[in-house]
Amino acid sequence: SHWIEARGLDKVYRPRKSAPTHALSDVSFAARRGEFISIVGPSGCGKTTLLKILAGLIPYTGGETRIAGKRVSGPDKGVGMVFQAATLLPWRTILENVMVPVEIQKLDRKTHEARARELLELVGLRGFENKYPGELSGGMQQRAGICRALIHDPAVLLLDEPFGALDAMTREFMNLELLRIWQESRKTAILVTHSIPEAVFLSDRVIVMTPRPGRIAEIITIDLPRP
Ligand code: ADP
Ligand code: ADP
Repeated sequence: SHWIEARGLDKVYRPRKSAPTHALSDVSFAARRGEFISIVGPSGCGKTTLLKILAGLIPYTGGETRIAGKRVSGPDKGVGMVFQAATLLPWRTILENVMVPVEIQKLDRKTHEARARELLELVGLRGFENKYPGELSGGMQQRAGICRALIHDPAVLLLDEPFGALDAMTREFMNLELLRIWQESRKTAILVTHSIPEAVFLSDRVIVMTPRPGRIAEIITIDLPRP
């Protein structure tokens, strides 16, 4: 069976003051455990909506989605999500930010703090544990955001255009960094990106979504030599 599964997903947004939007229509796909999938497609085709549904952050109108065999029906502990802009809390240190999911889920502080330090070291942030987000570059903040998404050892990692706000060089560096993190954790990962080269570089498979109404047009399998 599959580690991530979406079957016949429908999503209609019904804003109070404007017409409904059919953001997703009969979207189906599945990911094997340990697979890295990228989703590409033009703005407004439903990529963010799909990730938010998988993370259990918004309800869906029809269909079904499962993560690690469990039906998604609310914010899911089995998911780690990295957002477009670094969403670190400015009044908390980098280490305290990485520990946020541990506090929310009331996990053991001591073991997870050791893990947080390991993760920060893995992404090159050793020595920055006690700094505040404002003292770090955008790329460093995104790296801390990835640590926060991984701290509770989620079954899947969802990344919504995580490097979109970074300059081209930092972005390339972050791609290498993410590949290294993925190779270490082997999480099942879904990355939403506007960059085809980024998708090709990082994924086992690339999913292309069509503009409207958010259907999956084609699934391209890219065989990458994994070391
Ligand atoms: P993408 O991430 O591919 O840019 P989105 O998932 O953000 O696409 O949006 C898909 C469609 O749903 C768009 O037409 C967008 O305007 C609409 N949409 C997204 N979020 C909302 C919302 N909260 N309320 C109403 N419409 C929304
Ligand atoms: P972006 O992906 O551009 O960073 P979002 O994911 O929040 O931003 O929204 C994607 C699209 O959904 C945008 O085109 C935005 O206009 C639309 N959208 C977001 N929230 C709403 C809303 N409450 N009502 C209508 N459209 C929305």
